[in-house]
Amino acid sequence: MNFWEEFTDEHKAGIKRAIEVAEMNTSGEIRVHLENSCKTDLFDRAADIFAKLEMHKTKLRNGILFYVAVNDRKFAIIGDVGINQKVPTGFWDETKEAVLNYFRMNQIPEGLMEGIRMAGEQLKEQFPYEMGDVDELTNEISYGSREDEI
Ligand code: CA
Ligand code: CA
Repeated sequence: MNFWEEFTDEHKAGIKRAIEVAEMNTSGEIRVHLENSCKTDLFDRAADIFAKLEMHKTKLRNGILFYVAVNDRKFAIIGDVGINQKVPTGFWDETKEAVLNYFRMNQIPEGLMEGIRMAGEQLKEQFPYEMGDVDELTNEISYGSREDEI
């Protein structure tokens, strides 16, 4: 099965919208990166992408990356140091589990939207939204390569 078929234009718009909505709850900056498959260690790969997207360039170091290797159905969440300093280990476990539950039903876009919503809720306390918030990182999905793009 090609899981890219899961992503319609509506889904892509829905993911972007989910990020916009989540970022109304928190100063945290959420991004989604999609690629076909992950050939190395999942967490290493996600950390590489985090760096490549220059996600460490937020004032409060509170960028969050949702990394998905779509055809592998592999998924990782990475938060920047600002978040890791403030939240307990395992902070993302519940979100990660919820997303993976959707993936198991082959509902990848829906899983991402739910995970993004949960991340916004979870970060509300540690990193509340403040008036005059700047959108420091784009809400657009990023893709591994031109071939990955849909
Ligand atoms: Ca922001
Ligand atoms: Ca943003």
